Amino acid sequence: MQFLDDSHGCAGWNGEMAGRIRAFDWSLTELGNMDTWPRSLCSAVQLMLASPLPMVMLWGRPGYMIYNDAYSKFAGGRHPYLLGSPVELGWPEVAEFNRHVVDTCLAGGTLSYRNKVLELLRDGVPEDVWLDLYYSPVADDDGKPAGVMAMVVENLKANRSRLEDALLEVLARVETAESENASSQQALARSEARRAAEETDLARESERLNAAIASSDSRRTAQKAKILPRSLTVYEEVRRRHSGNAVARIAGGNCAGCRVAVPETVRRRAFSGDELAQCPNCGRILYVG
Ligand SMILES: [Zn+2]
Repeated sequence: MQFLDDSHGCAGWNGEMAGRIRAFDWSLTELGNMDTWPRSLCSAVQLMLASPLPMVMLWGRPGYMIYNDAYSKFAGGRHPYLLGSPVELGWPEVAEFNRHVVDTCLAGGTLSYRNKVLELLRDGVPEDVWLDLYYSPVADDDGKPAGVMAMVVENLKANRSRLEDALLEVLARVETAESENASSQQALARSEARRAAEETDLARESERLNAAIASSDSRRTAQKAKILPRSLTVYEEVRRRHSGNAVARIAGGNCAGCRVAVPETVRRRAFSGDELAQCPNCGRILYVG
């Protein structure tokens, strides 16, 4: 029977990764065709596939990667390309670290790390990940260390506190931005209030000017009204006193009788209506009408 043909009721031996491991062309790697795998490797792979913990086997000195379903989730966007890939190619950003791991375990050592921070590109974005990592050697059929079994436990508590820190930072930034926005809105409101006040002042000023113009107009009208009757009175007086004398109106600054310009002093006299004004050219009594 072919390796992993029968799940024997173990979900992991029948899962996605079991299928991928079986379908992979291992002859392209140092592991060779699956039929030729050492029994110890097959047992280790079965142990790994059955585990709910994220686990990955690094086989041989290059550390060819064989991993379980839980690890495929940890691998993010790199799954399924990590399968059958040498570990240093699979995770180039932590190649040095993994080199040390493989060399140590192939020499019979084990390694464990608590809260190890690795910067990983899991979905194309560099991300600090806090991990508990456990590495131990796996023997070949001769009993010599031939691979490394790795358990990768994400320290969710550390990750969560990191996320909380990041969230708090974002919230603080939002708060700052909001208060900046509020103060700039206040400044805007202040400047609008100033402008409104200025507009009110302008409106008041223009109202005042209009009123001044209107009152000066009405004063002028009243003056005219006052002057005209007086001029007419003078005119009548002139007619009465100088019965038979020629009279002429001042029109456009000229004597209407002879059309010669009336000097300013004479015009002023005629305008005041208090004294008689006579055209210096034709002798007509002048009046303003
Ligand atoms: Zn005249």
